[in-house]
Amino acid sequence: MKVDELPVDEKIKAVLKGRGIEELYPPQAEALRSEVLDGKNLLLAIPTASGKTLVAEIVMVERILRGAGKAVYIVPLKALAEEKYREFKVWEALGLRVAVTTGDYDRKEEWLGRYDIIVATAEKFDSLLRHGPGWLREVGLLVADEIHLIGSPDRGTTLEMILTHMLGKAQIIGLSATVGNPEELAEWLGARLVVSDWRPVRLRKGVFYDGIVRWEDGGVEKYPTGWESLTVDAVKKGKGALVFVNTRRSAERVAVELSKKMKRLLTKPELRELEKLAGELEDNPTNKRLREALRGGVAFHHAGLGREERLLVEDAFRAGRIKVVVATPTLSAGVNMPAFRVVIRDTKRYSDFGWTDIPVLEIQQMMGRAGRPKYDERGEAIIVAKDEDPEALMKRYIFGKPEKLFSMLSNESTFRGQVLALIVSFNVRSFRSLMEFLERTFYYHQRRSLEALEERAKGVVYFLLENEFIEMNLEGGFTPLPLGIRTAQLYVDPLTAKLFKDHLEDIEKGPNPLGVFHLLALTPDMPPLPVRRKEFSDWVDYAYEMEEYLYVEIPWDGYEMEKFLRALKTAKLLLDWINEVPEAKIMENYGIEPGDLHRLVELADWLVYSMAEVARVLGMENSAKYLRDLQLRVRHGVREELLPLVKLPMIGRKRARALYNAGFKTLEDIAKARPEDIKKVEGIGPKVLEALYSGLGVKVRIRKGTLDDFLK
Ligand code: ADP
Repeated sequence: MKVDELPVDEKIKAVLKGRGIEELYPPQAEALRSEVLDGKNLLLAIPTASGKTLVAEIVMVERILRGAGKAVYIVPLKALAEEKYREFKVWEALGLRVAVTTGDYDRKEEWLGRYDIIVATAEKFDSLLRHGPGWLREVGLLVADEIHLIGSPDRGTTLEMILTHMLGKAQIIGLSATVGNPEELAEWLGARLVVSDWRPVRLRKGVFYDGIVRWEDGGVEKYPTGWESLTVDAVKKGKGALVFVNTRRSAERVAVELSKKMKRLLTKPELRELEKLAGELEDNPTNKRLREALRGGVAFHHAGLGREERLLVEDAFRAGRIKVVVATPTLSAGVNMPAFRVVIRDTKRYSDFGWTDIPVLEIQQMMGRAGRPKYDERGEAIIVAKDEDPEALMKRYIFGKPEKLFSMLSNESTFRGQVLALIVSFNVRSFRSLMEFLERTFYYHQRRSLEALEERAKGVVYFLLENEFIEMNLEGGFTPLPLGIRTAQLYVDPLTAKLFKDHLEDIEKGPNPLGVFHLLALTPDMPPLPVRRKEFSDWVDYAYEMEEYLYVEIPWDGYEMEKFLRALKTAKLLLDWINEVPEAKIMENYGIEPGDLHRLVELADWLVYSMAEVARVLGMENSAKYLRDLQLRVRHGVREELLPLVKLPMIGRKRARALYNAGFKTLEDIAKARPEDIKKVEGIGPKVLEALYSGLGVKVRIRKGTLDDFLK
């Protein structure tokens, strides 16, 4: 179908053509002919990178222009929300307003009412449903990207509940990778189903074993050495490769090793450019390894990378400056980063149950990254067989069907919070109406029975009653109590709120940061750091040394002890953070990477805030005040005396400390000082100085030119 033939507003067609899109791909055309433009639900299950997002974009914009209300687009990761937001900005040319919202779960975000397209993570949108901003009523369309994640043990429940809430209230579009039972999902959604394995670039798949690639079509190719030669070969052909491995450590090690091999293949100008790229990285242990890899045109990509580094790697790879990226499956699932050749080095990974095979669904998504539209005539995806039988791999991953999706609703931790939210925010006021709601879920659609779930729901309700989240009258009617209401809004697990409640008296008597951090690291909302065997006794010593500061008693039981020490290690890290230990040092001491530190601080910020709110609800004002101050220290990673300074724009923990040590201790000190003197402080350039003054609301008298000229 030509773009011109699309039954949509002419302005939409003009924007599409402006993006160089003249013709729709066959599955896109099929989807757009399915009455989805008239408001019908749609499930689109087609391979990765074959243009699902574009279908959703066209429908969103057309529906908005037809006056059908706002569109909400939900994604599984923050990074993806940003990526989609940037992509959707083009529609602002038609006068639409696009917004993105992630994080900060205790907000109503009424400001979003001014926007037409809202990109959000699933968790964020779920929290918005609980806060009930006025604009929710205006949502006419919900797009669920990567809807197959409904089958993911740790994220599925949230997505399933969002969809259950929105079904019947808004049009739903589900975008899915190819799965085993799309019919079942479509039926639940009351959606037209479009399934296809059409791809914009032809894909050839094969298995590598003992120096030989056997292609699915029977073809055979010989390679001189190990699987690494598959990447070397791609680069020799002037193309790029994406390698998938099962752990971060492998990703880094393989990247550095490959880099040595690649260096020889690169030209002098290429090497110079890479050197420049490497020079842009901040100093920390992860970046040191990344720098080493970059020098040979290779990078690694995983959840431990900092945000800037991740974007740098993605952009440089797309631009062809980085030739090979070695990635873990986690991050690369959604990010738009195609390559001529995809090499899957690992098909097994280590989990709580030991070594397990990676699901077909995931391997097929990785393979789908092969082939760059417009550049490659075909893409190649090659699975490496080590000890595995190559024929079995071929059968399972290349000719096999992806797994079926199963509802994960009974997953305990998320379910507990969801039941509370139903009672608090969605007017479910008896056990019967709770069960009635659950009958509308995918879980029930799939099993036609709630027996197992009913038991679980009963357990949760007892827990909520016992801990005063809700109360029940003689007729069995539920009423939410203040603690329950606040917990649902804060978007924390009720078990987390209970743990806070149980120890707030102690905090009220003797507040201290280590104790508070230890407590929050013990909650189910905070995944604590691992403690290695050889560190164990050191942390036991530390526990006894700090015993008087901890609010939870040191356990005797071995399993409990491990949990306790992991939380203690996490708490100590956060203590170092607010005592201004340099970031690189923290990463080295605790064996974590920039992305981990960032996530940990963000989580701790949210949990300290939540603890303060629980304290407030329970009438413990002293603790609430103490915790609110502590939250600010966590957010900025500083000692108390720097709090006024970090409020200024572009002033983080490092610059604030430098200013303070140079004698500029308060906002007045800075306002009174001469700009030349402030400029002498380490890390304060003209740009920062300008921001700093604008933050102070101080007008600097400049007669001619910019502040920059003035200070020269
Ligand atoms: P998916 O969401 O299925 O993973 P995307 O929507 O990200 O895939 O599409 C991948 C790329 O293909 C994007 O850069 C998109 O702009 C481009 N694309 C989508 N549809 C077309 C089309 N009909 N013609 C040309 N390019 C397209």
